Amino acid sequence: MSRQTKNTKKSTAALRKKCKGLCCRYFALPIEPPHDWDDYDDIRWYLAHENVTVFVEDGDWYLNVKNKCRYLSEKDYSCQIYDKRPNICRQYNPGNCDFTNGKYDYNLYFDNDLQMEIYMRIKFPQKAVKKFGKLKNTAKCL
Ligand code: SF4
Repeated sequence: MSRQTKNTKKSTAALRKKCKGLCCRYFALPIEPPHDWDDYDDIRWYLAHENVTVFVEDGDWYLNVKNKCRYLSEKDYSCQIYDKRPNICRQYNPGNCDFTNGKYDYNLYFDNDLQMEIYMRIKFPQKAVKKFGKLKNTAKCL
């Protein structure tokens, strides 16, 4: 066995010990980048739902659903369908996992619809006043 293979096995084993299944607790899907008021308003609607966030990374927009996979064991954080896990899981590189490499370089990150409302007020000031009224208290969403 080569030194590199041994080291890879060691680091994978070390990762496994630390693993809490973070990557099995959400999924993110690419979405069309918004261009006009209606596009942004659709995203505001996504964000009105619980456990949904939207982020932009390298200019690409993603819908992020924070929802645990039903097959993640909370006892030992293993996959309960390991042998028939979907391809996306098989292709996942633990070297890039959230635990070891959790630094993201977001261009934008929206936690809720009120944050999107503020963003829309900045992008489309006149239309926003017409649709949303004048800005009142934003402390709740920030
Ligand atoms: S199928 Fe298994 S590896 Fe894939 S997300 Fe669910 S628990 Fe994780």
